[in-house]
Amino acid sequence: MNSFQLDTAVDVVIVGTGAGGGPVAARLAAAGMSVVVLEAGGWRPSRSHMADERAAEPLYWLEERLSSGDMPVAFGANNSGTGVGGSLLHWGAFCPRPDARDMALHRTSGQGADWPIPHDTLVPYLQAVERQIGVSGPTPYPWDADRHYALPPLPHNAPAALFLQAAADCGIRASDAPAAVLSVAAAEGRPACANCGTCHQGCRNGAKFSPDLLFIPQAIASGAELRTHMRVVGMEQDPKTGRVTAVQYRDQTGASFRQACKALFLCAGGIETPRLLLHCGLANSSGMVGRNFMAHVATQIWGQFEQEIRGNHGYPSGAISEDMVRPDGADFAGGYLMQSLGVLPITLGMAMARSQGLWGRDLLDFVKSYRHQAGIGINGECLPHPDNRLTLSDEQDDFGVPKAHVSFSYHDNERRLDQHAQATMRAIWERAGARDIRVISRTAHTIGTCRMGVSPEDSVVNPDGCSHDIGNLYVCDNSIFPSALAANPALTIMALSLRMADRYVAAV
Ligand SMILES: Cc1cc2nc3c(=O)[nH]c(=O)nc-3n(C[C@H](O)[C@H](O)[C@H](O)COP(=O)(O)OP(=O)(O)OC[C@H]3O[C@@H](n4cnc5c(N)ncnc54)[C@H](O)[C@@H]3O)c2cc1C
Ligand code: SF4
Repeated sequence: MNSFQLDTAVDVVIVGTGAGGGPVAARLAAAGMSVVVLEAGGWRPSRSHMADERAAEPLYWLEERLSSGDMPVAFGANNSGTGVGGSLLHWGAFCPRPDARDMALHRTSGQGADWPIPHDTLVPYLQAVERQIGVSGPTPYPWDADRHYALPPLPHNAPAALFLQAAADCGIRASDAPAAVLSVAAAEGRPACANCGTCHQGCRNGAKFSPDLLFIPQAIASGAELRTHMRVVGMEQDPKTGRVTAVQYRDQTGASFRQACKALFLCAGGIETPRLLLHCGLANSSGMVGRNFMAHVATQIWGQFEQEIRGNHGYPSGAISEDMVRPDGADFAGGYLMQSLGVLPITLGMAMARSQGLWGRDLLDFVKSYRHQAGIGINGECLPHPDNRLTLSDEQDDFGVPKAHVSFSYHDNERRLDQHAQATMRAIWERAGARDIRVISRTAHTIGTCRMGVSPEDSVVNPDGCSHDIGNLYVCDNSIFPSALAANPALTIMALSLRMADRYVAAV
């Protein structure tokens, strides 16, 4: 691996190696730029992942984040990741594309926000990511006749099979889901999925995509330097031009370093990127850094079945329905995707305790019924509201940086969407034969705190990810979404990341 001098400005420093940082690192390095990538976590080789919920904890960002509002966000396992690959080390690999209608939500409904990038501009990048990372899925895709998946769908686990049948019985189209998991072995040596069911603990087989398997090795092979266990804590600016001149970071012993750079890409995720910008007082002339925090409505319905389900087996999210992306007669803007679920027992028990207040004997009885439990869930639109917001708290972390405080509440649109989704899912699960149906109210993903837009008045970065205020500061991660979309975010982030890299290479 290359080793760059700290005091000689490299072309680009990239902070974070997840869905945002990985692709941009690979592409800028391939374009011949000198690239230093700084990552707070370490390498987590596939063979180090364990089929064990407790053993997976090092994959999560477990430092304290403060949470408030009517729908306080649960951090840790559900909403964070660290290590080379970021949250994609333990993501579900459920890989839908963004819907064109969602990217034009305001134009069509008067609610939410439009994306400053047309959907058809993004499609070639979505296709490129799917090709590179290996997405399995159905062709034809029921909701998009033009779509083609190179790999056939994965086998169904029991909840997916139940969902596909019961949805059809209810007149709702459901299908095999697109998943960033190999259904057949890849030429470059990655094996096919072994159906072990532990994607959320990291894929020990390397069948599930994560950036440590592709983009980061590509970046290093093209000459990038990756420095792991390095925590970025500050940025330096030229006093005259305001441009970023260096990044300050610390290692695990607390030793401080600074890397001089010509440009900086912040890809630290929807919490750490705005936290850093607020801490440094940068890129915030609009006052929008930290505002418009969004979390998908991710309600789940669980029910007990006569037969054994064993939801710990098989790829967890094998079935999808996009019929509710615009449900008939809805009294809300946007819509939701539905997916089948496969969750391990501690995760399910904790979600029940948190959402339903199950405790003591009731919780134990529920967990004992685990083998007969099956669930379905949604990923639903969340509209941007300036009062849903990340700010800096009075408390500091071990590096002297104020902790993030996220205040999040549902507004009317999320509440109405949630009611609709609960009724739809309940009808499907009753049709499937579920008894003792329970609802888990939850949210997923941390989005929107550095929104992209055309106007410097109400957005943080422009459509190319460049700060409106600072010409060599870029943001490329979950935080730039102007609206949440019904689709789960990772594929869209990776496509944006490749697009931004192309635009950057063309511009410099
Ligand atoms: C349990 C779980 C399941 C998910 N399942 C799905 C799914 O099935 N489908 C889907 O589309 N999405 C899913 N997601 C969401 C998806 O993983 C995220 O949207 C995506 O990874 C976000 O990418 P990012 O680049 O914004 O941040 P991340 O992937 O989180 O990467 C940020 C990186 O920056 C590093 N970093 C942060 N701060 C600093 C700092 N100060 N200095 C140095 N490094 C720093 C972190 O260590 C981390 O590696 C899931 C997420 C979770 C947590
Ligand atoms: S189910 Fe497949 S993709 Fe998921 S962890 Fe097991 S082998 Fe990997």
